[in-house]
Amino acid sequence: MNIAKDKVVSIDYTLTDDGGKVLDSSSGREPLAYLHGAGNIIPGLESALEGKGRGDQLNVSIKPTDAYGDRDDRMIQAVPRTAFGGAQNIEPGMQFQANTPAGPRVITVVGVEDDQVTVDANHPLAGQTLNFDVKVVDVRDATAAELEHGHVHGPGGHQH
Ligand code: ZN
Repeated sequence: MNIAKDKVVSIDYTLTDDGGKVLDSSSGREPLAYLHGAGNIIPGLESALEGKGRGDQLNVSIKPTDAYGDRDDRMIQAVPRTAFGGAQNIEPGMQFQANTPAGPRVITVVGVEDDQVTVDANHPLAGQTLNFDVKVVDVRDATAAELEHGHVHGPGGHQH
């Protein structure tokens, strides 16, 4: 069975940046399971996997436009410290989930002054070329419930 829209695909993967640093890996975990064609994974990786089958291995280098987009300096903003509620000891590098007009996002603290905190709402991997070393572990048909929900159920997917 080849990878196509509405298939459930399980992959083992290692993600490295252009310097060879490992950013993420399924090593030591369940393979990642995703619903193909549903936008569950970045577009560049999804298109590279199209048509592949169980056991196939690939190395792909994905430009930011097909991954998490380019960095946008307008997404770096100063917000009042009070916006963090009761959070104490806010330090650069800390990450918070925030609700923004564009939906929930992870924001990263990049600077702290007296009563102001500078945050960066760019995705942590925005602007980076991502190198994936991928092995296809399994391909199966999605269930009706998975298609309805738009994501995978069971090992490597949603547990609900
Ligand atoms: Zn579901």
